[in-house]
Amino acid sequence: MKALFDKDVIGLNIILIGPPGAGKGTQASLIANKYDIPFVSSGDLFRDHRKLGTELGLLAEKYMNSGQLVPDQVTINMVMDWLAKNNGNNSGFLLDGFPRTVDQATALEKALGDKNSVGPSIYINVDQDQLIIRLTGRRVCMDCQLSFHIHSNPPIHEGKCDKCSATLTQREDDNFDAVRARLDAYKHNTEPLVDYYFKKNVLIEINGNKTIDQVSLDIIESLDRLNVN
Ligand code: AMP
Repeated sequence: MKALFDKDVIGLNIILIGPPGAGKGTQASLIANKYDIPFVSSGDLFRDHRKLGTELGLLAEKYMNSGQLVPDQVTINMVMDWLAKNNGNNSGFLLDGFPRTVDQATALEKALGDKNSVGPSIYINVDQDQLIIRLTGRRVCMDCQLSFHIHSNPPIHEGKCDKCSATLTQREDDNFDAVRARLDAYKHNTEPLVDYYFKKNVLIEINGNKTIDQVSLDIIESLDRLNVN
């Protein structure tokens, strides 16, 4: 059967959208590994810049800490730079957390051109009360970035990473006020993208309230139904 998305002929350009705390990061690496495509999280790119103390990192920091979106043009330039380095032969990619506004979505389309469109766009939908519990209880390894949860996925030794024993920390934007601001920003700026991609006929909606493994299975099953090569 002919593949709808043949990543060796035309890029499998997966977009992951969903509220903060939906589990996009976890699913991103699983999907990208399965289909052997490069992936990036715009949030991670910003955190890398912040860690390195670059001009971009310093600018982004004040938005990130208060849970607001970094201005579009800054974000678009940063992600386009990543794409230029990682999608040279248009063989596909996965973006986690970008686009987050309609302007970012149109900038991405423009950059890809007519022959290499965006899709599928996977929308992980999770109930709001679940998101607050997930985000405020999240703890992240300072070294390897592995993520834990104080209730649903606690580390074996309190405050220490299971994988590398480094100290676990709470992301600055996982405190209650920042979480509220991030959810507001999502509702206001990013939720319109669900409708945007639905109308383009590339949206796959996934129920993200289930376990990580079940969500992965549901995503893979949906992609398999598209006959991704
Ligand atoms: P995340 O790790 O995806 O939750 O992103 C952390 C923070 O980085 C967000 O709260 C924003 O401040 C910033 N950020 C990440 N991606 C974007 C984006 N596509 N547009 C604007 N800001 C972003």
